[in-house]
Formats: sequence, C-alpha cells, structure tokens
Amino acid sequence: MDVLELTRRLIAFDTVNPPGAERPAMEFCAGLLAAGGFECRMIPQGSGRCNLIATRGTGTGRALGFTGHLDTVPLGAAPWAFAPHAGTVAEGRLYGRGSTDMKGGVAAFMVAALAAPPPPGGVALLLTAGEETGSDGARAMVAAGPLPQIGALIVAEPTQNRAVPGHKGALWLRLRFHGVTAHGSMPERGVNAISLAAHALARIETLALGAAHPVMGAPTLNIGTIAGGLNTNSVPDLCEVTLDLRSVPGVDHADLIAAVRALLPAGTEVDALIDLPAVWTDPATPWLVDLARESAAISGAPTAPVAMSYFTDASVFTPALDGVPTVILGPGDPAMAHKTDEYVSLARLHEAVAIYRGALDRWRV
Ligand SMILES: [Zn+2]
Repeated sequence: MDVLELTRRLIAFDTVNPPGAERPAMEFCAGLLAAGGFECRMIPQGSGRCNLIATRGTGTGRALGFTGHLDTVPLGAAPWAFAPHAGTVAEGRLYGRGSTDMKGGVAAFMVAALAAPPPPGGVALLLTAGEETGSDGARAMVAAGPLPQIGALIVAEPTQNRAVPGHKGALWLRLRFHGVTAHGSMPERGVNAISLAAHALARIETLALGAAHPVMGAPTLNIGTIAGGLNTNSVPDLCEVTLDLRSVPGVDHADLIAAVRALLPAGTEVDALIDLPAVWTDPATPWLVDLARESAAISGAPTAPVAMSYFTDASVFTPALDGVPTVILGPGDPAMAHKTDEYVSLARLHEAVAIYRGALDRWRV
C-alpha cells in the first residue's frame, strides 16, 4: 500500500478524541504490520481503545524507533468544505481530520518500515491512543512495560519534514483556594478565597522559572483561568485558578510545583492536570546531524535547530527510554494541525517516506 492510500485509510477511521475509539484503527495497522513480518502487541486502554507496539528484527541490539498517535482533535464548530473522514485529494493535498496531525506521519513510517529490510537492532513502532488529551496512551504503554530496546526515536508529528531536536515541557496546575463564607455586608466574619488567590497570584507572577534555553528561550507562566464566588453579597469560600507553565530542559517540574506551593496559603490544593517534561537532543549528536542533513536534502528544510511550540508523546517515551536521542520529524504542516479543512501535502508525504527509509538504511546500533 502506498503512503497516500494508507493515510486515506487511516483518516477514514473516526478517532476524534474524546472518545478516541482508536481500537479499529489500531487493529487495521496491526493486521498490515503482522502481514509484513512485524510482531504486534496491543496494550489496552479502556473500552474501544488500545495502543500498539510493533517490532521487527529486534532482540539483538537497539532498534530505531518511530512513534505517532492515531487519535485526532474534534472537528470544531466551523463547517468543513471537505468531508473530514473522506480523504479527498485536491491540488496536491490530502484533506481530512488527522491528515497533518498525524495520520500522514504514521502512514509514512509504516510504509517505510514495511519496505525496508530490518536494520541491525531492528525497528520498533509505537502507535499511541489518547495523545491529544495529554499523552494518556504513551503513559499506559510505559506503565504496561517493558518497551522495546530503542536506540533513537523519531516522532512523526508535523514539522514539514524538518528535523527538530525538541520542544518545551508543559505543566498545567489547578489551584483551589479555600476560604470561609459569610454575608457580604460582614466580610470580617469570613475569609475571602478570591482575595487569597489574588495575593498569591501576584507573588506567583514574579516566580523565577529557571534560566532561558539557547534555542527554546525562557520558560513561561500564564494564569489561564480563574473562577470563584457565587453572588455579589457573599464572601466566596472557593476560588479555582489554572496555571500553564512551559518549561525548558534543566527545569524540574517537581521543583516548580514546590516553588508554587511555597507561595500559597495553607490548605490550598494543588493538582497537576498535565505534567510533560521538555524534550531536547543536542543538535550535535551525530545521528541527528546526519538525519537533519539527509532530510534537508530531500525536503529543502533548514538544518538550523529550532524547537516546536507543541508537546508530544516524547515527553513520556524519551525519559522512559533513558533519554535516547529523539527528533520530531514529520510530513504535516504545524500550521494546519487542529484546523478546519486540515490537509497534508502529497509531496511531503512522499518525502517523509524517503527520509524514514534513509534513516532505516543508515541505522547502525
Ligand atoms: Zn499530534
């Protein structure tokens, strides 16, 4: 099956998350890969959902790993000009939800891995469910353990085939400030939870988040939401705030949580909603230098290191694989991800197959 046909087949599975319902798509991939000599292992993830580990030629060293997710974000409120699961081809583009993010990338590495003789150390494909809701599938796979022995990991998320050495981490925190309610005419009899939050947030905004990274820039903090109070004439006894922190390599999320906690009044609850560390591979790593040069030769992408603004399953897999060299490199266009009338360029799909094939042919443990 060629990459266009396979991407169209994957787009035809409705894997909008929630609920995800990735199992039929995973079973379809497992069928194709098993017929091509891969050993397939399904890792369940609740009703109608699962993840897939497919390996060929592994067991004698360290495999070249590829990863991609099969869930997609919802379609959005705006109407689509192209039916989102029809896989319409027009003017050199394949349209559909998930075409760019990231069924095109998954199809490209499946086609390359099925066609290439297994390299020394083998090839390992990690297909995940539930990435879009915070890498739930990747976490389930790591928890089910053990992952195959992998020596380097290619994450086929959209980069227009540029080899990208990493991305920031994400730490989303929910803070619940508790007060004591009272009549609004007698505030001295209560403890105002909104006031507690306001004072704490003023301190949190001045928090030192760590040193800037030469490529990613500085870590950041955004106060994303705030909610509290039921009516004007009561002292609110609850105020809930969410924070979106974006970290860079060298910043430990546990340290960040402790620093935030230290600025909160006693009794405030802190919950991590998303906790995904930054991912970064030294661009001078020989494997990455070669891959960046070869992918640039095929796609015309620049070789200068940049960081992606989104996060990926590598935040879970790379630490679980002892920090193996990791690159984000896929055919999709990051500007098209999550958009109405999402598409992937057919030329980029074919380039990605060639780049992945080259990476497999050059792979030495
Ligand atoms: Zn994605």
